[in-house]
Amino acid sequence: MSGTFVGMPAFPKAAHEAVNNTTLRGNLRHATHTIRTKRAKAVAEVSDWAELRDAGKRIKDHTLRHLDRYLVQLEESVTAAGGVVHWAADAEEANRIVTELVRATGESEVVKVKSMATQEIGLNEALEAAGIRAYETDLAELIVQLGEDRPSHILVPAIHRNRGEIRDIFVREMGAWGRAAPEGLTDTPAELAEAARLHLREKFLRAKVGISGANFMVAETGTLVVVESEGNGRMCLTLPETLISVVGIEKVVPAWRDLEVFLQTLPRSSTAERMNPYTSMWTGTTDGDGPRALHLVLLDNGRTDTLADEVGRQALRCIRCSACLNVCPVYERAGGHAYGSVYPGPIGAILSPQLRGTASEIDASLPYASSLCGACYEVCPVAIDIPEVLVHLRERIAQGGPVTREGNTVVLRPARGHAAERAAMRAARWALGRPGALRAGQRLASRTRRFHPRTLPGPGRAWSGSRELPAVPAESFRDWWQRTRGGKDVTK
Ligand code: SF4
Repeated sequence: MSGTFVGMPAFPKAAHEAVNNTTLRGNLRHATHTIRTKRAKAVAEVSDWAELRDAGKRIKDHTLRHLDRYLVQLEESVTAAGGVVHWAADAEEANRIVTELVRATGESEVVKVKSMATQEIGLNEALEAAGIRAYETDLAELIVQLGEDRPSHILVPAIHRNRGEIRDIFVREMGAWGRAAPEGLTDTPAELAEAARLHLREKFLRAKVGISGANFMVAETGTLVVVESEGNGRMCLTLPETLISVVGIEKVVPAWRDLEVFLQTLPRSSTAERMNPYTSMWTGTTDGDGPRALHLVLLDNGRTDTLADEVGRQALRCIRCSACLNVCPVYERAGGHAYGSVYPGPIGAILSPQLRGTASEIDASLPYASSLCGACYEVCPVAIDIPEVLVHLRERIAQGGPVTREGNTVVLRPARGHAAERAAMRAARWALGRPGALRAGQRLASRTRRFHPRTLPGPGRAWSGSRELPAVPAESFRDWWQRTRGGKDVTK
């Protein structure tokens, strides 16, 4: 079983540990710089990239505005095609539904396609508790699972591991999970991939139940879409007798033609490919071809709360390409685990606090895990203004206090640790609204400047200890203006 993110400390503490790990920083730097350079080239090939980006944004915004209508249409289409739709309000309900569906087949093991939604709800752990073993079949997810590790990247969950570490994990753990690693396995990519292929093949051929997510769901036809690079997804989606797909409700798009946009922007933004090597689409069930039973579990788990926030809802446009992670200077240094969620990096910093609320230390700290440089917004293929949402969430935390979810209700609690900041802001508002008082304060500050402390006392010590306080000038700008220009004080 993989490790979990439960009980993670606040971002600064977790990041502090990560930046001291030079191996991790080296692995991350190499991987993110390689992917970001390739992405830039793949995007530059497309002359109408700006138009595609805008089209993706508009399709997603339109769908989110009419989400109720499109979800009902999707349910009707999937049902008409022979599938069964289940609605899950939260992680607990989704896990219960999937566990019962697997139990009903009489099976005690399942194969899984890489899926963020099932990681979000902790499905593997829930299945394990019910005596059902879930095998991850995506190569990077397999490395994470065998290493009892946690994912640190949306697309490359084992990005924090180098080839030598992966070889050691395969040699040490594969035998306990099935076919052991070949004798004399080296760390060359071809040998590692072959070891994984042999290990997974027997699981594909034995599995009776497959579990997947989906990148998109088409409302008009009830079609589900998974894009991937390895072909493991195709095996999981076609070989088992029962397929259970757990998908966030924001993944619906109205029509087939909408895929034209996303099937261009997603591969170039994620793996820097012109198109995905494997694009699997399935609509209900077909006699004699593929799974005989299809279950679609539509997952809310905080998404409708997020939709209610006019600024924050743009996070639901995300197509999980991970381009924002690969350009983020904070992610590059802190690594994915510091974000305490399966959604790391800039998108995690705005998505996790909205899906989970900000009652925990880690979630309340995430909106501050950014320098607001804007690189994430520049590369996002659906134009999510991540810096805007970060600032909005900071404001919500500072003014409203932690946001928690009680059942399906969002609860705002009074802020605790920001009293000093709010008092300072109130004082600034008072002074800036009274030019006379501001001028008197500036003159007083200039005359007493030799007595100003260089560090603040009490809780302010940590803040001032890491900053150079600018020296107060001997004369304020207004006084200088009046003296040198001889004019009257224009601010009076
Ligand atoms: S926020 Fe944008 S760039 Fe980041 S993963 Fe989502 S779609 Fe990709």
